[in-house]
Amino acid sequence: MPVRIGIPRGLLYYYYYPLWEKFFTLLDVEVVVSDKTNNQIVVEGVRNCVEDSCLPVKIYHGHVMNLKDRVDYILIPKMMSIQKKEFICPKFCGLPEMVRHSLQDLPVVIEPTIDFWKSKENLMETVYEMGGCFTGNKNKMKDAFQKALAAFNEYKKAVKKGFLPIDDFSGQWTSWNHSGNNENKILVLGHPYVLYDSYISMNLINKLRRYGFTVITEDNIDNEVIHEKAAIMDKRMFWTFGRKMLGAAFYGMEQEDIKGILYLSSFVCGIDSVICEIVERRIRRDSKKPFALLTVDEHTGEAGFDTRLEAFIDMMKWRENNESYVPAHGKYIFGRKSLI
Ligand code: SF4
Repeated sequence: MPVRIGIPRGLLYYYYYPLWEKFFTLLDVEVVVSDKTNNQIVVEGVRNCVEDSCLPVKIYHGHVMNLKDRVDYILIPKMMSIQKKEFICPKFCGLPEMVRHSLQDLPVVIEPTIDFWKSKENLMETVYEMGGCFTGNKNKMKDAFQKALAAFNEYKKAVKKGFLPIDDFSGQWTSWNHSGNNENKILVLGHPYVLYDSYISMNLINKLRRYGFTVITEDNIDNEVIHEKAAIMDKRMFWTFGRKMLGAAFYGMEQEDIKGILYLSSFVCGIDSVICEIVERRIRRDSKKPFALLTVDEHTGEAGFDTRLEAFIDMMKWRENNESYVPAHGKYIFGRKSLI
């Protein structure tokens, strides 16, 4: 029976799963992913995680619970920085410790440290650390990593062309074809593990598609464009996700074919509490785009969520058909001069 490694279907699973899956498979390790987020996973996560954590981190604990008794190893990376001179949310830096101290009877936890603050020089050391649990052959690890990286780059290309990694997306991008109404776009901002987890997001992306929108997220926008747009801030945004959302929002404000901007935030997210405010003020001040902020936590009911969504879509249609996108509050909702 092959050795099995578990990958929790939460947090940066939605970014790095294609890379991790290929790498471990090439080392002859069976990759097991936790089930799609469901009520039991949420309940287990909330019960076993520290109370003041954000919803995605609580749910991540539920995914670890879902996996722990059916794998030999579990991958919980310690993500310090995934971009040069930027940080990622502090919750990622202590994730392995947090999980190990909250949950009992875990399999062996593989917890490589990823820190690209200065450079990617130590990346191969991290690769050997992860692969070393399964083989002593460095050439095999190097080869597996190079092939995994190639697959990951293909995946990223598909995402830039519009593919969205919703839930069980493994392998789908290889056969994915762009289709959709390019004239009717809506930009949805939010952290990947909030947007692409249909349970947390209340299936937002598919609901918008059913309304006839082509949904785009910051992941579909070119990195250079995001970087350039975010650079208009007086101070460089040092949180990677924050910078991406700002850049995407500023880009979306200028695009004719983007009919509205939605921000999906999870309650108690420190980064969102700052970024949402900046995004909302900028959109209201500098554009006529309809904008709404939807916040979810473990108590959010789908009926209330859907009502807010329907109201937003009705408002978008109304403004497009009757008011030439002029918002009811006028141009100067936050005064003639805004500080942000
Ligand atoms: S960025 Fe926000 S949602 Fe994401 S892990 Fe940190 S606190 Fe939670």
